[in-house]
Amino acid sequence: MKMLREWFGKPPTRFFPGRQACAFWCLCRPMPDLLRPSLYSRPLTMKCYPRTGVMSPDNPQKPSPIAQARAWIANSRKLLFFVGAGLSKASGIKTFRDEDGLYQDRRVEELAHVDSFFHQREIMLSWYQHRRQQLLNVSPNEGHRALAAAAKTHDVVVATQNVDDLLERAQQNMQVTCPVWHVHGALAQVRCHDCGLAFNDLTLDLGTLPVCEACHGPLRPGVVWFGEALPPEPLQESFAAAQACEVCVLVGTSGVVYPAAMIPEQAAAAGARLIEVNPNTSGLSHLCDISIRGPADEILPQIFEGLN
Ligand SMILES: [Zn+2]
Repeated sequence: MKMLREWFGKPPTRFFPGRQACAFWCLCRPMPDLLRPSLYSRPLTMKCYPRTGVMSPDNPQKPSPIAQARAWIANSRKLLFFVGAGLSKASGIKTFRDEDGLYQDRRVEELAHVDSFFHQREIMLSWYQHRRQQLLNVSPNEGHRALAAAAKTHDVVVATQNVDDLLERAQQNMQVTCPVWHVHGALAQVRCHDCGLAFNDLTLDLGTLPVCEACHGPLRPGVVWFGEALPPEPLQESFAAAQACEVCVLVGTSGVVYPAAMIPEQAAAAGARLIEVNPNTSGLSHLCDISIRGPADEILPQIFEGLN
């Protein structure tokens, strides 16, 4: 009986030193990776939902979610940031859904469709020029700076759904660099619709319908429109980073836009820790080991404080 009590009286981490068991000892983390059932076949009851609950500030024996996230990041080398609009919100960037959904009495979803490039090019490009102009009047926030600084100490890859270039500007200011893959394209980029020639220029006025110097084809913003396929290279590189990372940090993303949302799903399936920073529950919250509720420009500096 004593042996049995000893056997059941201790969490299973005794067999796997250094791995933390959740409150229900559900074994989903301590189990060696080879034996772990795949993410998709794992029954719901095996998931680690109570994990965030036990690490509340009310329980001084357990680290807070921010301290736990910091510890996981400190003990890892490869990080993947999966970024959404929440990161740039504090800088004043509006998503096109924020602007009443209208531009000159036209629905913006209609203007962001590839068909508009052929049927109402002038108003479409003047709307994009309006959005590009907004980028010139904003600057990176504390969230961008915390994320850029992480590249000083870790192998960082960023997969962003944002079309702004604020993260690159934060990196330039701090003189650090890491791959930033824009899976939905970039507003700062101008591309020839015919020959694909691309360059970065925020000052070129697309509203004047400029043409390509090489082939005289029409120039367009380097973003992905509704009705178009995502560019293959950013997606492939993001999936490769998801496969390789030890920790994946989801920043300010609703997690409902596919196929981009498959990137953190891939990281979870490959065994990475998932940390979510978002004021609201997202479509990917159920996959995350920790969900920290709050805006990115406040939470990210707290997580990375002292790590750089
Ligand atoms: Zn061209």
